[in-house]
Amino acid sequence: MEGQEKLRSSAALIIGAGGLGCPAALYLAAAGVGRLTIADSDKVDLTNLQRQILYRTDSVGAPKVEAARSALNAVNPEVAVVALQKRIHDFSELVAKVDVVLDCSDNFATRHALNRACVSKKKPLVSGAAIRFDAQVTVFDLRTKSAPCYACLFPEDAEVEEVQCSTMGVFAPLTGIAGAMQAMEAIKLIAGIGEPLAGRLMIVDAKSAEWRSVKVSKDPACPVCSGKQVAALG
Ligand SMILES: [Zn+2]
Repeated sequence: MEGQEKLRSSAALIIGAGGLGCPAALYLAAAGVGRLTIADSDKVDLTNLQRQILYRTDSVGAPKVEAARSALNAVNPEVAVVALQKRIHDFSELVAKVDVVLDCSDNFATRHALNRACVSKKKPLVSGAAIRFDAQVTVFDLRTKSAPCYACLFPEDAEVEEVQCSTMGVFAPLTGIAGAMQAMEAIKLIAGIGEPLAGRLMIVDAKSAEWRSVKVSKDPACPVCSGKQVAALG
């Protein structure tokens, strides 16, 4: 009962309403999170329906966040769903208003911008990613000083090859697993249950059906979360 009450009075922000965002949002809405803000600029595409499980054939062409809102409210009309159909570059204001943030996006620019906002506002960030047959989930929670942030793990200036599901493909049920894990971690954080998946990166290899977790350490020189620079970011 106490946990349910905490969920009802909580707010979550989901960035991305695709393969990860759809299952994550479904579980959070069904669990009774009070306010869900979902941001995505895209429209529903027929070729993505195998993993974007909030949508049906008749929502093809509609803005994803609008289709998401009606699907989520069909599951739980008590949840206030805020649909933002736009690409966001500065997340500070949105992040400040919620208890937990879920990164269900598909590009590094968004991931880093979201990380910066979560570090600056000290909000827990549940990060998920899936490509081909590999998925990763972890929690960055800078309310703990020694905790790493996303940029400790993937530096902002690193040379990275941007691989997206739209070009590389992804094993659809794997996005369901990763998105559901993100919802699970978010609910744990809101309700204060158990140990969050913080300081550990959970890696799922769908081909071999193997799960493992590796330790993630804080980079003391991280320009995003190490003391001085955070103050400079305001
Ligand atoms: Zn960092």
